[in-house]
Amino acid sequence: MFFLPTVNAYAAQDAHSPLAPFQIERRELRAQDVQLEILYSGVCHSDLHQARSEWGPSLYPLVPGHEIVGRVTAVGEGVSRFQVGDLAGVGVMIDSCQHCESCAEGLEQYCENGHTTTYNSREKDTGNLTFGGYSTSIVVTEQFVLRVPGSLALPAVAPLLCAGITMYSPLKHWKIGRGHHVAIVGLGGLGHLGIKLAVALGAEVTLFTTSQGKAADGLRLGAHHVVISNDPDAMKAVRGSFDFILSTVPTKHDLNPYLRTLKRDGQLIIVGAIDPVGVHGGLLISHRRSVAGSNIGGVAETQEMLDFCGEHGIVADIELIDMQDINVAYERMVNNDVKYRFVIDMASLK
Ligand SMILES: [Zn+2]
Ligand SMILES: [Zn+2]
Repeated sequence: MFFLPTVNAYAAQDAHSPLAPFQIERRELRAQDVQLEILYSGVCHSDLHQARSEWGPSLYPLVPGHEIVGRVTAVGEGVSRFQVGDLAGVGVMIDSCQHCESCAEGLEQYCENGHTTTYNSREKDTGNLTFGGYSTSIVVTEQFVLRVPGSLALPAVAPLLCAGITMYSPLKHWKIGRGHHVAIVGLGGLGHLGIKLAVALGAEVTLFTTSQGKAADGLRLGAHHVVISNDPDAMKAVRGSFDFILSTVPTKHDLNPYLRTLKRDGQLIIVGAIDPVGVHGGLLISHRRSVAGSNIGGVAETQEMLDFCGEHGIVADIELIDMQDINVAYERMVNNDVKYRFVIDMASLK
């Protein structure tokens, strides 16, 4: 099957309109390009923030979606790693400068000249807007296309492309595994994958949640312990307990109660774009603790994560929706009413 360059999509036309059907153009295939038929697209919190221009001015029309799983429908003549019919994935980035120090180290997410995001960005050479996964097809340079293990349930693989790598990368960077006690703050799209990945890496895992109702789910997902983080006694009981804390909370929150639960030299790693204002310096210097941040992962590491998930049978817990349900899904996400990731079945947009 070969797609015409014009494809069906869902787009936001401005910060205040709901997403609605829209037609976009995909570029003609270049020598290094892979064309995918998009089968499933995960729904990330950042989709909603960017559709609503909550992270600085967004570029409209905006087609969100950076957790893409699909099947290769065409390849350029210079493509060597993919063939028509292969399963493939696309995550948060579709390009980077390829010559800075970060790119040379396979850390394209920290490209010093700025990586090109899958949507809400402009192609480096043409200046054309990039459009994401809420569409039926996409064209991406081979270097930013991932192999998807065929052993996993495909719809549930999609969230690995952003939520999964966002958790996997800091776990690997700080070499978290056997012998470490790690806590995950928040049980959402990121947190539930953080638990699964940290457990698979051999760590002892605690879930911090404010919701008593999520405790049983935390344990079901593999956490060894659950601590209700707005219970001062429960927090006191785990003071000085953790080597690492990964906070997945996407909104402003007080980090100090969590810092107290770190051991000496413990690290609190944030993956949400939050301002850690109000951090008490005394809590840092008294135990040589630090607060760090981490952003998705490089292409090679994303591939490593997908392969790791293939070996360990790790996928997201998802709710499959039709494209037409996206605006309702956004409202439910705002209300934390999803276990734990929406994934769009793109067959609904054909
Ligand atoms: Zn995302
Ligand atoms: Zn670069």
